[in-house]
Amino acid sequence: SPLLLEAEGLDVTYVVEEGEVPACRDIDIQLRRGEILGIAGESASGKSTLLNALSRLQRPPAVTSAGSVRFHPDGGDPVDLTALSEDQLRRYRWDSLSIVMQSAMASLNPVLRLETQFIDVIMEHDRSMTKASARARAGELLEMVGIPSGRLRSYSYQLSGGMQQRALIALSLASNPEIVFMDEPTTAVDVVMQRQILTQILQLQASLGFAIVFVTHDLSLLLEISDRITIMYGGRIVEVGMPEQLYSAAQHPYTRGLRAAFPPLSEPVRRLQGIPGNPPDLLDLPTGCSFAPRCPLAIERCRIERPELVPTANGVVACHRAGESTEAALPGAGADE
Ligand code: ATP
Ligand code: MG
Repeated sequence: SPLLLEAEGLDVTYVVEEGEVPACRDIDIQLRRGEILGIAGESASGKSTLLNALSRLQRPPAVTSAGSVRFHPDGGDPVDLTALSEDQLRRYRWDSLSIVMQSAMASLNPVLRLETQFIDVIMEHDRSMTKASARARAGELLEMVGIPSGRLRSYSYQLSGGMQQRALIALSLASNPEIVFMDEPTTAVDVVMQRQILTQILQLQASLGFAIVFVTHDLSLLLEISDRITIMYGGRIVEVGMPEQLYSAAQHPYTRGLRAAFPPLSEPVRRLQGIPGNPPDLLDLPTGCSFAPRCPLAIERCRIERPELVPTANGVVACHRAGESTEAALPGAGADE
């Protein structure tokens, strides 16, 4: 299907007192119409930074220091979002993009009834709509996520955590977005609710056809819901692949480690294997591969030369020892040259 959003050579830098933090480097991403693109990585790998840059919700001290984010409107010419003014950008955002953040509590306005917030977004998006029809539409949206429309009269604090999160998803759909950005949308709720919400997101996506960029540290979750998955480490993409491929034949030792760290809900409970060691200090990145200090497969070359992304069967990988071993690459195996 056609291209919808595309980042090329994207660098995002936090300009702070301590220096310039290279939070995203050389990011190439392509999102197609109706696609679910997963972005996974440990804490501090740059997922939220990237999501904010893609959605252009980025605020100082974050700056896009290189590259472009192009939006491809239906039938129109691509627009470089990084070149738009705030005003122009706002229009694109209302028309095409919408965001679901980690905490619904922080995103819903506690002093307004749900109704007011929904009607605002709906009428802002479609100025020809009457208040009465906007209210009816708001009711439909709530029902779509399994919340009775009578709840429109409620304030967000009167809803359970799971309901708040679902209300936020409904609100994100109020502008008929083409892309919904989701940053850990289910981390604040329990596992059962997480499952329900994911199922609902997938049903809505299938019936309405919007594309999703879904950010989480939980690779197993992404393996279930994504069409394609991007793995980030230390601000860079280290692997991209289809779920089937990353599930059974991930090429990067970090991808395999992530998968072992988050076993699927369906698998029997066992001790979680974290990836030993810590993410790199972005202000003091190692020469060579950023993952080398933690990598069971690292050899001298890895510490000297940063691996470039190279094509795989269905994606890309940046690793000098890509796919070289399976078992030995699991965390704790501890192989070194
Ligand atoms: P998490 O899973 O914890 O949400 P993340 O992958 O979303 O992590 P980001 O929040 O994008 O990671 O952060 C990426 C890097 O940018 C981190 O090293 C972080 O410390 C740094 N960073 C984030 N926000 C700022 C800021 N306002 N100023 C300076 N550095 C920042
Ligand atoms: Mg984050």
